[in-house]
Formats: sequence, structure tokens, C-alpha cells
Amino acid sequence: PAERVSHFGRDVWSIFTPLALETKAINLGQGYMNFAPPATVQNAAKEALDVVEANQYSHPRGRPRLRNALATSYSKQFNRELDAETEILVTAGANEGMFATFAGFLDAGDEVICMEPFFDQYIPNITMNGGKPVYVPLRPPADAADRVISSHEWKLDINELKSKITPKTKMIVLNTPHNPIGKVFDEDELRAIGQVAEENNLVILSDEVYDRLYYPPLNKFPRIANIDNLWERTITVGSGGKSFAATGWRVGWLIGPEHLIKHAFAAQTRVVFCVNSPCQEAVAAGLENALTEGIFENQIQQYLHKRSILSKLFDELNLPYTMPEGAYYILVNTSKIEIPKDFKFPEILNDRGDDFKMCYWLTKHIGVCAIPPSEFYEREHWPLAAHFARFAFCKTDEVLEQAVVRLRELE
Ligand code: GLN
Repeated sequence: PAERVSHFGRDVWSIFTPLALETKAINLGQGYMNFAPPATVQNAAKEALDVVEANQYSHPRGRPRLRNALATSYSKQFNRELDAETEILVTAGANEGMFATFAGFLDAGDEVICMEPFFDQYIPNITMNGGKPVYVPLRPPADAADRVISSHEWKLDINELKSKITPKTKMIVLNTPHNPIGKVFDEDELRAIGQVAEENNLVILSDEVYDRLYYPPLNKFPRIANIDNLWERTITVGSGGKSFAATGWRVGWLIGPEHLIKHAFAAQTRVVFCVNSPCQEAVAAGLENALTEGIFENQIQQYLHKRSILSKLFDELNLPYTMPEGAYYILVNTSKIEIPKDFKFPEILNDRGDDFKMCYWLTKHIGVCAIPPSEFYEREHWPLAAHFARFAFCKTDEVLEQAVVRLRELE
């Protein structure tokens, strides 16, 4: 095998998703929905299959209908008239959009700043394109293990960020709402990060795939591309899968100025050429009808309830957690949970963080699967995640209630 892949271990998803299936555990692990996309969106996908042309290749920038729908929807978000020809690129999921961006900007040895914890895919996406990830931590408050904290209390130290910049630094990856913390960066935080990017001429890749999922009291989602002149150096990443409960469709997008988007486009054309055509039609239908049908408002209300099903349980169990301001994960402190000494773990968990053992035991013994967040830290920092488990609440209320019943056994 090539060096670029030979060091990859088994990723957390391909350990825990099969384990949940095998053990019939309730799967609050990998973040995908067990409910259907909104009817308008699902029906549009079915209808698209009956249109001969919609089964063929699309324009490599994305189908015009989807680019126009994105331009209409996101022009309001970015307070500018977006050009559907040059400022929007439809990608094969947000993940491939990020891969294409790294491919479009990184030369061998270029450094990319990633905040820790990070969504795990960033790292191989960077290294496969010759780049080097450089980590800067988001830190919880000192007493986070003793109480429920807000995701907003996780902080980036700007001086620490500055200390990581070298002549090789080319990009910074931002993730808001953040997976797995749920943090929504506020304007002051974004401005401070943006200033570092300005001073060092960095490209900002802002992963905003959960942009439609933020919770009251937040009534607005701040975007780094809207601050000062940062539009000029920012590519924003979005996701049809997260927006419309269709994570398997692999329809995402990049939005940014032409002088940045064109490099991601150049790379993407040579990787996938174009994106799944019928699903693009369906995502376009979702965006076209989102406002009149209140799709995003409804989703937020539903997710608020789902969040409360789990947060009430963790309150009851007296397990401290981070209350997320956005996205659909709750990071729980598991220090108080004891695993029986004689419990046997499989070999595959050797050489992993202790949180892998906790999540394995929860899956196997309690029957609820969660994700061990050390996967989102570089190896040296695995101990920082030792007492965390990430529970996803993008599931039906019924399934969440079943999980509650099982998790009460922890009392
Ligand atoms: N984004 C989802 C999560 O964090 C799924 C990730 C994946 O399957 N690679 O759970």
C-alpha cells in the first residue's frame, strides 16, 4: 500500500456501527438519522428518478437548479448576492468538498491548523493531500467534570493559536456548530480567529454542516465569512445530508469567492467529476420549500426535544455533560461509571484511548452505543478524552426513550 494510507488504523465508525448492529444496541453512536427526510425532499428524490436527464451526469459545478436554490437561500445568510456560476460548488458530501479544498490548496509540507477535538476525517483529508495538521486545543473550564457546562464554555486560546503559526501554515479549519462539542462560535471569537488568518494570509475552511441546527437562546448563527473582509479568504462548507436528514445522499456544497472556489473545483472535477444527480434535485426541492414549509424551524423544535430527552436523563444520573448550542451530540463525562473489573475487552481495543473501553462496555453491557471522542484527538492527547462519551440525538423520540430506559441501569 501507499504510505498515505498504510498507517490508517480502523476508524471509530467501522468499529462501533457494526458493534451496535451485532449486539442489537441502541445506536446513539455515528451521527445519522433513523427517520425519513422531510416528505417534500424524499418525494422530489423519487420523482427525479423518472426524469431521464436527471439520471445522467450533472454539470461538474452542480446542477443549475441546486446552485440557484443555494444562491437564493444562502445569499440571505451571507448578506450578499451569491453568484451561482462561480461562488457555489456542489460536492459529493461535505467531506469530499473538504478533501477537494485541501487538494486545491495544499502543497507538500503545508500546515493546516485544526482545533482539537476535530472531526476525524479532516486529518486523513489533509495528509492524503500532502499537508500536515497542526493542533490547537479547545479547552473546557477547569470544573467541567463537576457540573453541566454550556458548549460555549469550551474556549480557544488565541495566543496559543498564534504560537502554532509557522511560515508553512496555509489554512485553518473551523467547525461551527462544532462536532463533537456543539459549540457555536460567537462573533468575537470568530473575529479573533479571522484576525490571525488575516495577519498570516491563511485560507479559512469553515465547516458549517450543522448550520441549520442551533438552539435557543441563540436566534442567529454567526458565520466567519460575514465578519469584516473575511469573505475573501473563507470557504464555507454545507451539507444536504445534515440539513434534510439524508446523510447517505452525499450532497454537500462549498460557498466562497470565485478566487478560492475555483481551486477546489479544479480538484473535484478530477476526483468525482460530478455529484449524484437525482439527489441534487431533491436537495434543491428542500431548499426551495424550506421557508414556506418551515422545514428548518420544525427541525430545530424537534431536535430541542430530543436534546432534552437525553439531557434530563444525564441530569437524573448525575453525569456531568456539555449542553450543546448546536448540532446533535452530547458529550458526557463518564468518570462516575464503573466498568466491572472482570469485563473482557477484545484485542481491537488494545492501543486505544480508555474511552474506547467505556463506549464498548456501554454498547455491549448497557445496550446503548456511544462514540469515544479520543478519535477526535491526536494520539498524545487521547487522555484528554478518557472520560468522555459522545451520544447522538438525531434519532426518533421512541428510540431515545428506549435508550433512556437502558441507561437508567447505570444508576
Ligand atoms: N458526522 C457523523 C458523526 O460524527 C458521521 C461521520 C462519519 O460517518 N464519517 O457521527
